[in-house]
Amino acid sequence: MSFDVNAIRREFPILSREVHGKPLVYLDSAATTQKPQAVIDALVEFYTECNSNVHRGAHFLSDEATRRYEAARDIVAGFINASQREELIWTSGTTESINIVAKGMAQQLKATDEVVVTELEHHANLVTWQQACLASGASLKVAPIDDNGALNIAAFEALINEHTAMVSMPHVSNALGTVNPIQQLIAYVRNKAPKALVMIDGAQGVAHSTVDVQALDCDFYAFSAHKLFGPTGIGALWGRYQVLENWPVWLTGGEMIATVSYQESTWGPLPNRLEAGTPNIAGAIGMAAGIQWLQQFDMADVQRHEQALMAKAVELGHAMPGLRLVGNAPEKVGVYSFVMDAGHPADIGFILDRQGIAIRTGDHCAQPLMARLNVPGTARASFSIYNTLDEVEQLFAGLRKAQEMLA
Ligand code: PMP
Repeated sequence: MSFDVNAIRREFPILSREVHGKPLVYLDSAATTQKPQAVIDALVEFYTECNSNVHRGAHFLSDEATRRYEAARDIVAGFINASQREELIWTSGTTESINIVAKGMAQQLKATDEVVVTELEHHANLVTWQQACLASGASLKVAPIDDNGALNIAAFEALINEHTAMVSMPHVSNALGTVNPIQQLIAYVRNKAPKALVMIDGAQGVAHSTVDVQALDCDFYAFSAHKLFGPTGIGALWGRYQVLENWPVWLTGGEMIATVSYQESTWGPLPNRLEAGTPNIAGAIGMAAGIQWLQQFDMADVQRHEQALMAKAVELGHAMPGLRLVGNAPEKVGVYSFVMDAGHPADIGFILDRQGIAIRTGDHCAQPLMARLNVPGTARASFSIYNTLDEVEQLFAGLRKAQEMLA
């Protein structure tokens, strides 16, 4: 069953506002998605009805807040098919999730170890591993892509050997939209380097595909609520129980301990062991609300819709002289990255903005990827469930205007 885009749009209050006197055309969902009323209501309701700290109070509100907060964990853990709820650690987002893993690995890596990433990385999954390697003396290996932005599978496989201690790669590239065949890649790593741990940067993956961490057979999967119709400042690290159980603690303090004396402390069990301090309670509840909102749709319908928007953009882009699509991998989501002869991406973004059209311009937190593709940056329109074919047409009308203005 497909869905009614106009009905969906009515659930997003922000989509009916104007920007610079023009109706908003929001094409920046890879940066952050807009929030449906259900998520906004969940946040307001928490603070209105049951605000209280969790896991501490011997009172009604604290119990209720704890119940809702832990129910949110069940929903988020279920969304990626975690085998146990204790495997789901709340974090502030993908960046923190990757840092927990990379900082822990930095303590374990040896100088002979190798960490494998790809040329598609967002800085969150590059700088973290680069720093872990610098701290430990391990080597960072970077699997190359082709000129279309698709991972070179043979070259990736050639990097996996008995020295491989860690492989961390994106499910979907934020800058180009490339979808990596992660299940196939993980299977290869498991076979060739059985001791290596595998982490998936799922920041862009979760909104565009059904994720099953057990079927994927990875060790870690990191994602953020705000790209999944939920609030900012909350996300999750999923980790395989046996791996997370003894993972080095990263923050110490309240909530994560079992016993404390002046001489020493012992740590509590998962998940709290990796969740020191008062958590983002409303955020966790909002994250679950965003996921539940998305779950009312069939992911195949969502994908079909995004592919239709993408096909329209590709068609209109082909017909536009002086425009070049950047990133044309066979498997990609609704991310349309491009450069134009007419001007710098920042100028194009500025002119579109004056017409109410929001895109992202720049290096997309992927400077080495931009250097690899020989572009200073790109302009990027990214599509979500609430975008329409008409908005894609408006994007190109805006680009024609940009060409005229910059001529
Ligand atoms: N990885 C990828 C692929 C991303 O797109 C992003 C967000 N742009 C991140 C990591 C970092 O996510 P966050 O900023 O939510 O921590």
